Amino acid sequence: MTMDFLGDHPALDMLNTVVQVQGEAVDGWRSGADVADWLARAGYLPSGAAMADFSGLPGLLEEARALRELVRKLVARRKDGLAMETVDLAALNAALAQGRRHMELAAGDDNALALRPVYAAGTARQVLAPLAEAAAELLAGDFTLVKHCENPDCTLWFADRTKSHRRRWCSMAICGNRHKVASFRSRRAG
Ligand SMILES: [Zn+2]
Repeated sequence: MTMDFLGDHPALDMLNTVVQVQGEAVDGWRSGADVADWLARAGYLPSGAAMADFSGLPGLLEEARALRELVRKLVARRKDGLAMETVDLAALNAALAQGRRHMELAAGDDNALALRPVYAAGTARQVLAPLAEAAAELLAGDFTLVKHCENPDCTLWFADRTKSHRRRWCSMAICGNRHKVASFRSRRAG
């Protein structure tokens, strides 16, 4: 999959691991190794850990997919402007409760010290906890710049970090161009 990181936010990139290909949903996560590979590329595996250490973690695929679909539902409801009191947050809170972390001080660049959180990663749900936290932060924050791609056939989400806040497409090369070609054709036809 080449569309993994168009979302400009890890929780939205997680949603975007399912893409529409010719009208059919294609899941980029088909194994624990797929999930571990994605987590590594997204910067969500403990530093120094190898992807191979996690690809065989029991339940990683199932837990990752469950978290993703849960967050997809919450993001859609938040975007729809539904009253959040009516939304069940228990499942996401349960995922957050799996997080176990401590802080660690390490020598950084230029003689500086860097402080960073270190997460326990013994179970699938612990490995996914920082991603659940990123999703919770997104849901609790300002949602105006969280957008769904304007192509009705596309299911991708993104955080619009452009200066003008006029981003409309998951990717100009994919959906933006399709739109341009379609409106050019309809102009010519008209
Ligand atoms: Zn799109």
